[in-house]
Amino acid sequence: MKLLENKTALIFGIANNRSIAYGIAQTFHNHGATLGFSYGIPQLERRVRPLAEGLGVDFVEECDVSKDEDISAVFQKVSDHFGTIDILLHSIAFGGRDQLTGRFIETSREGFRTALDISAYSLIALAREAEPLMTDGGSIMTMTYYASEKVVPHYNVMAAAKAALETNVRYLAADLGPSNIRVNAISAGPIKTLSAAGVSDFRKMLHYVSDRAPLRRNIDQLEVGKTALWLCSDLASGVTGEIVYVDAGYHILGVPEPPEKWS
Ligand code: NAD
Repeated sequence: MKLLENKTALIFGIANNRSIAYGIAQTFHNHGATLGFSYGIPQLERRVRPLAEGLGVDFVEECDVSKDEDISAVFQKVSDHFGTIDILLHSIAFGGRDQLTGRFIETSREGFRTALDISAYSLIALAREAEPLMTDGGSIMTMTYYASEKVVPHYNVMAAAKAALETNVRYLAADLGPSNIRVNAISAGPIKTLSAAGVSDFRKMLHYVSDRAPLRRNIDQLEVGKTALWLCSDLASGVTGEIVYVDAGYHILGVPEPPEKWS
């Protein structure tokens, strides 16, 4: 059964074939959705276009979400091309490399401003443009990470950005609920992607998590895609303002050492 037939989904945040947004796009495509892609910087076009073609996507537009004029321009094009949309995926984050290593206390004002602007404020800006296009209700989704709640080495300013993002999800869900637009976040476990490579010692974190998570492994982009599919489909019609974990269960642990290591 195809869950997204006659649905149009706008996907922000594909950089390459490892992007979580691409895993979600593949899943949506397999379930019958019509897709539109937006990428952040001109250099990504040569990577994103072939991925779009592979999924029969003919709407591929650049949009730097730190620029209001880019956001209005891309939504004007969306309106001209699709008329209305049903789903918006925000899978975007940016933190300067110098901010994702060392001590959190060294976070600069500019580093904080940039990370919060691109990774958290942008959800509000995109949701505001999407609202009038979601005439038949809709589903807005973003991607977050557990470092918003508990300290994770080197995540630093990005953790503050994710905490803000999760709060945005709840406030947007309250604003948009009366229009039957649902807003949720998926909190994914660590996955090796371009952005993740910017976090110091990320590879070590992958091993740390897979050794301890209840499922004793890491998760992948297509598993995030399956949860995104559920959240965007009618199966989750009563779910809004939630943070849904796709992390092999890691976030439930209080003492993350498997008992066999104690002996
Ligand atoms: P990715 O590098 O493939 O995707 C990040 C995207 O953000 C890229 O497409 C990049 O172009 C885009 N972006 C950055 N600045 C932008 C700007 N100014 N305007 C428009 N787009 C911009 O990496 P990913 O891991 O797929 O990340 C997607 C989301 O998932 C991010 O929010 C990330 O924090 C979140 N996430 C990732 C992991 C992980 O371990 N990879 C875990 C949990 C959450």
